[in-house]
Amino acid sequence: MYELIKKDGRAKRGRLTTVHGVIETPVFMNVGTVAAIKGAVSTDDLREIGTQVELSNTYHLHVRTGDKLIKEFGGLHKFMNWDRPILTDSGGFQVFSLAKLRKIKEEGVSFSSHIDGRKIFMGPEESMQIQSNLGSTIAMAFDECPPHPATREYMQKSVDRTTRWLVRCKKEMDRLNSLEDTVNPHQMLFGINQGGTFEDIRIEHAKEISKLNLDGYALGGLAVGETHDEMYHIIEETVPYLPEDKPTYLMGVGTPINILESVDRGIDFFDCVYPTRNGRHGHVYTNQGKLNMFNKKYELDHRPIEEGCQCPACRSYSRAYIRHLLKAKEMLGMRLCVLHNLYFYNTMMSEIRQAIEEGNYKEYKKRKIDGMMNQ
Ligand SMILES: [Zn+2]
Repeated sequence: MYELIKKDGRAKRGRLTTVHGVIETPVFMNVGTVAAIKGAVSTDDLREIGTQVELSNTYHLHVRTGDKLIKEFGGLHKFMNWDRPILTDSGGFQVFSLAKLRKIKEEGVSFSSHIDGRKIFMGPEESMQIQSNLGSTIAMAFDECPPHPATREYMQKSVDRTTRWLVRCKKEMDRLNSLEDTVNPHQMLFGINQGGTFEDIRIEHAKEISKLNLDGYALGGLAVGETHDEMYHIIEETVPYLPEDKPTYLMGVGTPINILESVDRGIDFFDCVYPTRNGRHGHVYTNQGKLNMFNKKYELDHRPIEEGCQCPACRSYSRAYIRHLLKAKEMLGMRLCVLHNLYFYNTMMSEIRQAIEEGNYKEYKKRKIDGMMNQ
């Protein structure tokens, strides 16, 4: 159940109630690809840094360890010891970006695993079955991720197939949720809008999938090589055609500035690997812009990464020590930077929610972006 609590311009302050607890939106989901946040971050850490939703990748869990084993264990929540909401992607994005020797047909996609070359077939029904075995809170529909750039003709055909696949996903999810031994019989389904940068295809598709009364709607196929302005334009044009009383999700985006701009255009959910990936490389986010912790100028710096930050890294350690850990390739260095970055994103989302509630989102956004660009 999604409740729209407040609107400020187009920015939405919402609340999604799930069987695993409440999600306050706008929210940034913390990406744990193989049911683990890269950088040696535990689920206890996630609780400490204010994570609301953990995101796991269906494709990765299917090819390694396997969803059947995880179901037998009692589902992903029990397996990784996380009792709050989990969103699983459909596997579509990885099938189209990682897998080799791919063949797309109406039924689904045949491909070889990137781990051992094993032949795998995945269509809408298979993706729903895997996600049902994992027992995530929110499952994503299986869609085609068209290449960028694609011709208009290809895009239209691909989007039409994605719509047919979505209808099959919904039917299969209803069937799975009604089975007796289902891990999470209340699993929700989000549909995905596609259409690249063709705004009319996006809009028609948004209208079409809105009729299906799903639990939420995502924009996929963005941040794949188009400019930020093109992306913002597509969000601005498409979101008004998605139901306002359902959450919207911009997949795989992005930088703090991308998030601030997209919230302003009506997006509720985000996910991105930037905070974890950058953290592992010693790049940390602050309200004054990004810092490279390898920089020599921090070698005797007693300050934390960011003054006033309440994350586990900043509460206890200096820039000088973190730089030393990174230089010595100690895992703790990566871990502290990842924790700080996720805390930074989670805290920003909480500020965003407050600014919308107070009706001053535009001022907040400007101040925040000016600060980060200031460097
Ligand atoms: Zn910090």
